Amino acid sequence: MTSHAAQTSETAQAWQDAADRDLILNAGPRFELLVRGEGSHLWDGEGRRYLDFLAGIAVTALGHAHPVFVEAVSRQAGTLAHVSNYFATPPQLEVAARLKRLAGTGDAGRVFFGNSGTEANEAAFKLARLHGGVGRPRILSLDNAFHGRTIGALALTAKASMRDPFQPLPGGVEHIPATIEALEAAMDDRVAALFVEPIQGEAGVLELPEGYLRAARELTTAHGALLIVDEIQTGAGRTGDWFAFQHDGIVPDAITLAKGIGGGFPIGALVAFGEAAALLQPGSHGSTFGGNPLATAVSNAVLEEIEQSGLVQNARDRGAQVRAAVEGIGSPLVAGVRGRGLLIGVALSAPVAGQVVAAAQRLGLIVNAANPSSVRIAPALTIGDAEIAEFTDLFTAALAEVAAAAPTETPK
Ligand SMILES: *Cc1c(COP(=O)(O)O)cnc(C)c1O
Repeated sequence: MTSHAAQTSETAQAWQDAADRDLILNAGPRFELLVRGEGSHLWDGEGRRYLDFLAGIAVTALGHAHPVFVEAVSRQAGTLAHVSNYFATPPQLEVAARLKRLAGTGDAGRVFFGNSGTEANEAAFKLARLHGGVGRPRILSLDNAFHGRTIGALALTAKASMRDPFQPLPGGVEHIPATIEALEAAMDDRVAALFVEPIQGEAGVLELPEGYLRAARELTTAHGALLIVDEIQTGAGRTGDWFAFQHDGIVPDAITLAKGIGGGFPIGALVAFGEAAALLQPGSHGSTFGGNPLATAVSNAVLEEIEQSGLVQNARDRGAQVRAAVEGIGSPLVAGVRGRGLLIGVALSAPVAGQVVAAAQRLGLIVNAANPSSVRIAPALTIGDAEIAEFTDLFTAALAEVAAAAPTETPK
C-alpha cells in the first residue's frame, strides 16, 4: 500500500494560491490538484496516485480516459461538434432513441437535452408548470432533496443553507417528509407534480421507504399529478438497474438525467413519457449547447459500452462486494451501509466523515463526505476485484486512523 505524506510542497502551494485567487470555489477551501486519470486511478501534480471511488460524483461511469470515451470525443470533434438546435444530428437522434429504449417505458416519449443535471430539472420544472396551469400551483418535493443549484432547481432542493441566501425562490414548492403517510396527507388535485430521487445521494445515500415509488405512482395518478423521478445520480446503471425506478416496476411521467450518461462529458436530459411528452412544444424551452453532436455522440458511446460490457450487472455484483467488504472491516466507526449497486453510503457512528475522507485522501483513496456522518462511495462501474481489494485496504486504514484519533461516541 502506498502511503502519501501530507506535506505541502512549493508547487502544491503555488496552485493552491492560484485556486484561491482565480476560482469562484464551489466546494471547501482545500483540494488536490489532479492532473491525470486512467481507469479507477488519478494522479496529482506531485505524481501521487489515488484510487478514485467517487468517480467525479457518480459521473465517470467508465473510469478515466477509457478508450471508448477518448475515441468518441476525438472522432466526433473531428466530424461535427455543434450546429444549434435549428438542426438535428445523427448522434442526438440516436441517443434520444437509446434513452427511451433503456427506460423501457414504450414508444411514447420525447427527450430534451441540456448540459447538466440542474438544467434537466429546470426543464422538468417547466414541464410541471405547463401541466399544472393555473389550477395546480403546488409542486411537492421531499425533505433532504437535492435537485440542483440554479434558481428553479434550487426551489426543489430542500437544504436551508443552500436556499436561504437566494430567497425569494419560485413559489409553489412544498417539502414533505419522505414517508407514504406524508405524501397521502399532502396530495390533492392542486398538485402539478411530485419530484423524487429514488435514492437521495447528496443527502448521504438515503433510500426511500419500501413501496414509496409505487405509492407515489398511485397517488399522483389518482390526483392527476406528474411523477417526476430525478435519476441524475442513480441513472445510467449505477444502482444495478439502468434506472433506479425500474427496481420498483413503475412508469414515471418523466425522468431527469445527467452525471453518468456523459461519462465525464457534460450533458443533461429530460425524458418525458406518455402524455407528458407533449407538454413542451417548440418555443417553450431551449438550450444553445444542449444536445449538440459532440455531447450526444459521447453519451451514446458511453451508454453503448455500459450495455455491451454488462456494466449494469457489474454495478449490482460489485456493489454487493463493496458493501460486504465495508461490513467486513468491523470498524466501530461503521454503523451501517446504505444504497444500491455502486451508490453506497457508509453511515458512521460519529460525525467524523470529514476526517475519514481526509485520512483516506492522505492514504491515496478518494471518497466523499455527503454529510458529517456519511461517507459516499460511487466508483466507476468498471471496477473489479483488484480495485475492491485496494479500496478495502485503504478504507480500513483510514477508519483505523480516525478511530484511534477520536472517541467513537458523538461529542456532546
Ligand atoms: C448532481 C445532482 C443534480 C445536479 O446536477 P448538476 O449537474 O450538478 O447540475 C440534481 N439532482 C441530483 C439527484 C443530483 O445528484
